[in-house]
Amino acid sequence: MTKIKAKPVEKKKPTTRKKAVSKKTASKQAATTAKDKSFNPQVFEPKWQKKWEEDQLYRSVIDESKPKHYALTMLPYPSGDLHIGHWFSMVPPDTRARFMRMKGYNVLFPMGFDAFGLNAENAAIKDGIHPMKRTFANIERMRKQMKSMGPMFDWEREAISADPSYYKWTEWFFIQLYKAGLAYRKMSAVDWCPKDNTTLAREQVIGENRVCERCGTPVIKKALEQWFFKATKYADELLRFDEIDWPERVKTLQTNWIGRSEGASVIFKTEAGDNIEIFTTRPDTLWGATFMVFSPEHPLVGEITMPENRAAVEAYKAQAARQSDIEREAVDKEKTGVFTGGYAINPVNNERIPIWIADYVLMSYGTGAIMAVPAHDERDFAFARKYGLKVIPVIQPEGVELNGDTMETAYEHEGVMINSGPFNGTRATNDKGLKNPAIKAVIEWLEQKGIGKRSVNYRYRDWLISRQRYWGAPIPMIHCDVHGWNPVPDDQLPVILPEDVEWKPTGESPLKLHPTWKNTTCPVCGEPAVRETDTMDTFMCSSWYHLRYLSPKYDQGPFDEAEYNYWMPVDTYTGGIEHATMHLLYTRFFHKALRDMGITEGNEPMMQLRNQGMVLAEDNSKMSKSKGNVVAPDMLVNKYGADTVRAYLMFFARWEMGAPWDSQGIEGTARWMRRIWTLFTDDENASRAASRGSVYDARHLRRRVHQTLKRVTSEFENFEFNTIISSLMELLNEMYKARESGAVGSAAWQEAKEIYVKMLAPVAPHIAEELWTNHMGKPYSIHQQSWPKVDEAAAKEDVIEIPVQVNGKVRDRITIPAEASEDEIRSAALASEAVQRYLEGKEPKKVIVANKRLVSVVV
Ligand SMILES: [Zn+2]
Ligand SMILES: [Zn+2]
Repeated sequence: MTKIKAKPVEKKKPTTRKKAVSKKTASKQAATTAKDKSFNPQVFEPKWQKKWEEDQLYRSVIDESKPKHYALTMLPYPSGDLHIGHWFSMVPPDTRARFMRMKGYNVLFPMGFDAFGLNAENAAIKDGIHPMKRTFANIERMRKQMKSMGPMFDWEREAISADPSYYKWTEWFFIQLYKAGLAYRKMSAVDWCPKDNTTLAREQVIGENRVCERCGTPVIKKALEQWFFKATKYADELLRFDEIDWPERVKTLQTNWIGRSEGASVIFKTEAGDNIEIFTTRPDTLWGATFMVFSPEHPLVGEITMPENRAAVEAYKAQAARQSDIEREAVDKEKTGVFTGGYAINPVNNERIPIWIADYVLMSYGTGAIMAVPAHDERDFAFARKYGLKVIPVIQPEGVELNGDTMETAYEHEGVMINSGPFNGTRATNDKGLKNPAIKAVIEWLEQKGIGKRSVNYRYRDWLISRQRYWGAPIPMIHCDVHGWNPVPDDQLPVILPEDVEWKPTGESPLKLHPTWKNTTCPVCGEPAVRETDTMDTFMCSSWYHLRYLSPKYDQGPFDEAEYNYWMPVDTYTGGIEHATMHLLYTRFFHKALRDMGITEGNEPMMQLRNQGMVLAEDNSKMSKSKGNVVAPDMLVNKYGADTVRAYLMFFARWEMGAPWDSQGIEGTARWMRRIWTLFTDDENASRAASRGSVYDARHLRRRVHQTLKRVTSEFENFEFNTIISSLMELLNEMYKARESGAVGSAAWQEAKEIYVKMLAPVAPHIAEELWTNHMGKPYSIHQQSWPKVDEAAAKEDVIEIPVQVNGKVRDRITIPAEASEDEIRSAALASEAVQRYLEGKEPKKVIVANKRLVSVVV
């Protein structure tokens, strides 16, 4: 028997180009005297917002009788205006948090501001307005704008990272990391933005041209003493994602960013006997290493260079120093180098091999020296051919004999080891690391001989924390000439930013230029000492904001433990994917480090992550103030009301994909909202329709209602916001049809209305409240109602069984929804295996569908 499943209902985007409401209707609405019937979101939206706030409707407090749900969405930077992208990132998660609340969870959905950072300080340099003043004025404005979207943020839990009661604990965390040996200071060449006059973390340097992530200026190198966090200590653990439900893309980005590679470190020697450590992922090709290449900055270069090579080496070093790392590493760049005149001894076969220097080898990656195996590495091969260096194949592919003198390209695949002493004949696969039998065997041998060992290399670097800027959390360290660096004692926290500073783009922190701020006393000896004048990377503040929300006013610690125990970990985290290798990695490191100090629990701070896409301008470009293509949500709220903007943002794009803005489309959503309003408030029409006599089918209406409820429930669970809206639009059409056929007054109609408003409540909280409380006479508030339960029996499609005849004999019976069309029945019958057998791949001569009772196929 062939079973045909009910086809999912086609989700058509309703025509949005049609004029939303005719002028006639609009004027009629405006003229109507029955005030409560006119659709006026500009009146009832602020009214409900005020009432909800007064009643503390969205206050979330510990309630052991309910399961908790911590819904966190990334906090904004207080730029001064809430744009449509903010709405897109906040509204759908707000609807989901509301849904979870109706599902019976005690939901925490907080909001705050990532308030430190360069923008406010750069603006201060320009116009002299103090960053603190500007930031808090912007926060005031954005908070108001956020409230206009009607979200369920619990404002009692607001946290602002630039508030001393917040950054006191950012400083305290720094000290804990320092005490745990995870914060250290070292001199290093750092990436420096000459425009912003500050260091950048490696993550803040972007693109092939290595430009500043904030301003696009090419980044330069500068040697400074800086504070670092030992994030690399957690590199291996950060590669494990087994406890969290995060998007594959984010996991891949983090995995690649950490860039773990397995191989061996091997000690070569100079002829003078100095050790040269190299890392290789291919120890199985050691016998094919025919030369070495050093970074021009390698400390041994001076020593190994022969007098007759010195001039060329010095000239080459000078030109390399003038280039950026990216220029030096560029794949398409012609590889250049010079011979030092020095030789190394390959430890596996004691061959004497020449040492070259080349700018494509960087001191900052690995050890600054590499072994070159031209037969099996394309870059080494090109270099060897250019400078006439030896090529010795050591991995032979099956059935081919490689000849080092005539090879035209490096061979980088599997084969059998040759020219490799004791390992000749060993099979080398394409596997990486110890999974490759050749690599495994050679590493064991290297370890036995004491010339090398298994080793893992990472691309990941420690987190550079220091910023030479004012508007950040001060690094709470004190330097004494006798006692070195010591943390500020706990009872002196927070180290507060001075307010009287001068704004000069000097490249030094304004804190350093302040006449007195840096002067203090050594916590050890009490003698005069100086403060660290750098401030912290703002990513430090955002690494723990989810903890500050737990108890933003708590002053006995960064958070109240009781709140932590109830709410943590974060259940769903939402925000942009652009944070994949920055914030989302920093916060995981931070949590793990704190866990090891006994401050946090569990291995991960955020269990489920979902990323929204971007709202682009209508012409597909990025929205920006300078281009003047920014969509202002405030104007849309004024025109349509917040609920319409909310619903449209859910509807116009798949949330995780984003889309270019479509200013026309919102009319369709606005029309839907008005149609909801009309259906629920226009009793006159309703009773007129009812008087026409009842032809309506209660079972059909209930089926549609519960099928929609089932679908919308799963769509909320799965962050499929756009189809929630189309499901609700379809159901509204069904309800209009039911009303036309006289459903009003029936129990099924009443049920349909209640379920509809409840499903609408997360999406359009104001309209839902107005309809529920004022028009349906239900108890305030809709937002304290439970999510309706699906009546599975009602939702079930009626199915019928239809016999299928082939040439007059019944050969099969198909099961199909009672509402299936003739076409659907026909194709279901032809898809039947039994019928297919008789068709033998040919087209049937005739197919007759007889009144949903019989299908007759003639072959
Ligand atoms: Zn910059
Ligand atoms: Zn001292």
